[in-house]
Order: sequence, then C-alpha cells, then structure tokens
Amino acid sequence: MKSNKVRVRFAPSPTGPLHIGGVRTAIFNYLFAMQNDGDFILRIEDTDRNRFVPGAEEYIIESLKWLGIEPTEGVGIEGAYGPYHQSERKEIYKKYANELIQSGHAYYAFDTPEELEMMRERLKVEKSSIQQYNAVTRVNMNNSLTKSEEEVNEKLANGTPYVIRLKLPDDEDIKFSDIVLGDFSFHSSQLDDKILFKSDGMPTYHLANVVDDHLMKITHVIRGSEWTNSTPSHILLYKYFGWENEMPTFAHMPLLLKPDGKGKLSKRDGDRLGFPVFPLEWVNPETKEISSGYKESGYFPDAFLNFLVLLGWNPGTTQEVFTKDELIKIFSIDRIGKSGSKFDLEKAKWFNHLYLQEKKTEDLVQEFKPILNEKRVKTDDEFLLDVLNLVKERATFVSDLWSLTSYFFEAPISYEAKAVKKKWKEDSPDLMTEIVTILKSTDDFSAANLEEVIKKHIEDNELHMGKVLNGIRLAIVGSASGPSVFEIMSLLSAEESIKRIERAVQTIKKN
Ligand code: GLU
Repeated sequence: MKSNKVRVRFAPSPTGPLHIGGVRTAIFNYLFAMQNDGDFILRIEDTDRNRFVPGAEEYIIESLKWLGIEPTEGVGIEGAYGPYHQSERKEIYKKYANELIQSGHAYYAFDTPEELEMMRERLKVEKSSIQQYNAVTRVNMNNSLTKSEEEVNEKLANGTPYVIRLKLPDDEDIKFSDIVLGDFSFHSSQLDDKILFKSDGMPTYHLANVVDDHLMKITHVIRGSEWTNSTPSHILLYKYFGWENEMPTFAHMPLLLKPDGKGKLSKRDGDRLGFPVFPLEWVNPETKEISSGYKESGYFPDAFLNFLVLLGWNPGTTQEVFTKDELIKIFSIDRIGKSGSKFDLEKAKWFNHLYLQEKKTEDLVQEFKPILNEKRVKTDDEFLLDVLNLVKERATFVSDLWSLTSYFFEAPISYEAKAVKKKWKEDSPDLMTEIVTILKSTDDFSAANLEEVIKKHIEDNELHMGKVLNGIRLAIVGSASGPSVFEIMSLLSAEESIKRIERAVQTIKKN
C-alpha cells in the first residue's frame, strides 16, 4: 500500500550548477511537502561518474539553504531510508537488476559500439520506422535473448563488457495520468529497451530512480517535463517489480522558456541577454569561468522565490506577493499551467524592488554598512536611517543605495556636464547667492520650513521655480536627480548646504 504520509524528493544529478528551472522544481516539491506535513527528501543521483562535477553537490545544498527550502531528510540530514547518495547504493541496484533478469523482464546485451552503429546504419538504409533497440531489432543483436545460455555464461565469466536492458513488450500501450500534463499513452514500439545497468557496476538513471523512489516510499514524483518520455519505461519497471499498487503520482513541470517564448531557457540565453540562470554564482572548476547568480546580483531570496513560484503556478486570484508561509497554505499542483512560462527579468526586478520597500529601514541600514565600509565612509546609524528613508523607494537592490546616496557622504567634486548645460543658467550664480543668504538667516532647518522660506522668496521675487530648485540640486547633489532638495539640505545641515552652494557658484563654469 502507498504510504499515507506525503513524501517527495528532489533528485538532482551533481553535473554542474543548478539551473533556475531545477530550483523551481525544488520549490514546488518543498511547498507541496510542507503543505501536507510531509517529507521533502534530497537525493543525489550521482551514478554517472563521467558527468560528475566537483562542487556541484555543495552548490545544490547551498542554493536550497539560500532560498530557505531545506530538505527534511536526505543528503546532509540523513533519515530512515538512506544512504541518499545513489553512488552508495550500488549493491541495491545490482540486486534489483538481477531480479529482472530472473523474471525475464531484462536481459544482457553484449553489443559493441560498432555493432550498435551498424544496426543504426542498417535501419537507416532499410528506411525502417523503428530506429531503436527494441522488440523488433533486438532479435538480430548480440544479447542473451539471441545467444545460448552457454555462450552467455562464458561471456559473463570472461569479462565481456555488457549492459542490462529492459525487455519491452512487443505490442502494448503504456498509459499514465500526469496531474499537471494530463493523460499519456505510449505504444511500446515507440520506446527502446532502456539500459538499466552497466558493466562498471553502476545502474543508469532509470533503474536507480525507480528503485529508490520505491524504497524511499515516495508518494509524488514532481520533476521537469524532460522526463515525461522516460515515464512509460518507469511505469513498466514498477509493474515488473510487482509494485504497481505503490506507484507514485506523477507531476511533470512545464519548461521555463526564453523571454521570447521560443524554446527552453538556457545558460546561453542568460549570457546573451545579461541575466543569471543560476541561483548562486558558479565557478566552473575546470575552466574557472564564472557564471553569475541571483544572490550575488542582489536579489533577496524571498523575492526570488516569490518570482519563481509564479512562473508556472497561478494562485487563481490577482494577488502576486506571497510569503513562504502563505504559499505553503495555498499552493496547489493543479494550478500549475500545462504550457511553459516565459522568463521575465523585469518581473524579477519588480519583485525585488517590492521586497526592498517592505524591509525595515533599520535592516537596510545594516545591509548597507559593508558597502559604506568599502567606500571608507564613517557615519552614524541615525543619519543613515534618515537618508535611506528618503531614497529607499528608488532602490531595487541594496547595491543601488550607494549611487542613490553618495552625495550625502561626499560633497560633489564635479558636476554632471549634461545637467550643467541644461540647468545652470546665466543668472544661476546670482540666484544661488541669494539662496545662501536666506539659508544663513534660517534657524529652523527642517525640510518643511526650508520649503516655505525658499518658495516664499521665489514667489515674492517672481522667480522661476524650476530654475532655482534645479540650481540648488545641481550644487548640492552634483547632478539633476535625487529626492526633494529641501529634504536633502535639511539632512545635510545648514553649514554643509551653504558650503556646497557657495562652491558651485565659484566653480561651475558654462562654456
Ligand atoms: N537526476 C534527475 C535530474 O537530475 C532526476 C529526475 C527525476 O526527478 O526523476 O533531473
């Protein structure tokens, strides 16, 4: 019987950094498990030693940790169904491969690479509709179904390389129902006799995956849609092992698509369009090539998770912002769309902007401090708090804060040429000298009072509002952007504001 407790697994192969499509699959698994008080298992599928990349497993674990979707069981945590590295379970798979041979559902194949190539050539010449190793073609090949028992035993004894293949039925429809993608039916002639086990003592993905999902009592297989075509072979394995009644429910996730919707989002798209496709930065251990990550690019993990969940899943309402706890409550597999979702970097930024606004300014002050240290800026928290409260709404990333605030810590030493050209007029020096006079005689340096006295001066003298305020801004900020000049001056102090305006009057030259 299938266990009542929901048990799902994330089963990456450590062949490189985790793609954000894989991250999304992990998030869906996590949300589903948490919602059902279930278990979320991390299994590392590392049986293909040729594709093993050092550091990839650590990278996967770090990525899940960064997003706050840590497994409840598996690699690094352990549990009752370990070991959770497939490379440590070799003996288990061997036993199950032998069991299939005994029951006649698998066989040894001794074909050399040349023989396999000849088979492909022959099928091409014959213009056969069948291109793979299966019930039709296996009869002409070098395997334990065509050789005598004696010959087979001799080959096994003398160390002839072999693989164990799944023996597919000649004429059978294999059906399954996927809770996201719907009903599937494959005819056995469309499939091939998949390799289950290799003579190096290692299973292939198909055997190890099914055996482990069974032994680890997995109830729901939530994985990428690239595995849909393998599922019929997995279904047959469940049947041949006699585990049909314990078959997990399948849910295949549609692809993450390129921003233009044309095909699967790849690392190359990220490089070409200038955005990361990995959660964390990755340094290729061989080439030392660095691939950027969302974390290092300044994305908050909760914003990134919120963004990824909505790429494919829809809540059925117009709400877009969800905490992880809310998602755990309302997530539902049947609201995952059947078609792929286009990746949209602007949306990712939009979420980050929103999450930054939601942060307490006190916390942003702490996050900003390392940047200030790097710039050798010394200042106090209270001042920082006021400064950040003023500019926060313009920031998408913590790293934006420096360019938005640097003039609070360092007086401008030069003035943006374009702004000078546009905003500094013939009479600006005189206008600014008058402002200095006003500032010198103003005791109440609150933003509200500054606004009142300066606007009154403008009105009384019938001056041009924009011209005066733009002049002040250029003098104190060095450019034409920033929040209200009254707020800035109030924070900078009278002395500093006056000094900056006087300096601008002396140094800005129009050519
Ligand atoms: N090891 C497979 C992968 O890396 C797991 C696929 C599955 O979840 O069944 O995608």
